[in-house]
Amino acid sequence: MKVLWLQRLTCCGNTHSLLSHENLSTFLERVNLIYHPSLSVQQEDEVIEEVDLLVVEGAVRYDDRSIVELCRKAEFVMAVGNCAVYGNIPALAEEGVCGLSYRFKERGGLLGEGFKSRRGLPVINLSGCPAHPEWIVNTILMLSEGILPELDDFGRPKEFYSSLTHWGCTRNEYFEWKVEAQELGSKRGCLFYHFGCRGPLSHSSCNTILWNGVSSKTRAGTPCFGCTEYDFPRIGLWETRQYAGIPAELPIGVSKRGYVMLSGVAKMFAPERLKGED
Ligand code: SF4
Repeated sequence: MKVLWLQRLTCCGNTHSLLSHENLSTFLERVNLIYHPSLSVQQEDEVIEEVDLLVVEGAVRYDDRSIVELCRKAEFVMAVGNCAVYGNIPALAEEGVCGLSYRFKERGGLLGEGFKSRRGLPVINLSGCPAHPEWIVNTILMLSEGILPELDDFGRPKEFYSSLTHWGCTRNEYFEWKVEAQELGSKRGCLFYHFGCRGPLSHSSCNTILWNGVSSKTRAGTPCFGCTEYDFPRIGLWETRQYAGIPAELPIGVSKRGYVMLSGVAKMFAPERLKGED
């Protein structure tokens, strides 16, 4: 599979993510990466030819006709990282900037609603700031093996985005019994109640496919920032907005009434072994 990786308005975070993949050399033996700005010596316009998979990293301008032309030619198109998917930080700064098929939650983006690549798929969106190296590598390998990923409503492969970041977090028991972390970096307690954790509101497999096979933000005592969703980044990443002691945004699918009833009981009967310092 001939893969062409282009960058537009980006901090290169997704390139760093790709380059951090533990089996990068095996991956590079299995696909034909005809151009990547960090790995190739040629200029972008010297290699634009027949392309099987076009990968775009970074937000794009609405008048970027060269990307539109390439998207029309490619068998598959993939947006990697939140800027390429939703526009993200560059789109917050400038009106004329968007993602390939979205501008935040609004469908359309550069390619317009209804875009399909030559193989009949919409843009394959790997959201995240950055996207996890396993999501990038495995999606490309799936396509190269002729396996078409099933996509969610935001065009993200369900394989990696159908569950919440909360799934697999080592702090689930603390969450259930409403035992809060005392400080950032603490090994104990849940980060949802005070420290802004978006795990129960965000779609990712960060806690089931660990980063470099060993860790995740919440395992390290840092809240999930919800970086796979269209409303990232938001103000106050490290704190939970509350009204009358209740988080302003509750876990997906949980009603306010249910939350108040259950959390009161959970807190009252929380096992002693979960309480206390690190
Ligand atoms: S720290 Fe976040 S992801 Fe982990 S259990 Fe608490 S809310 Fe869920």
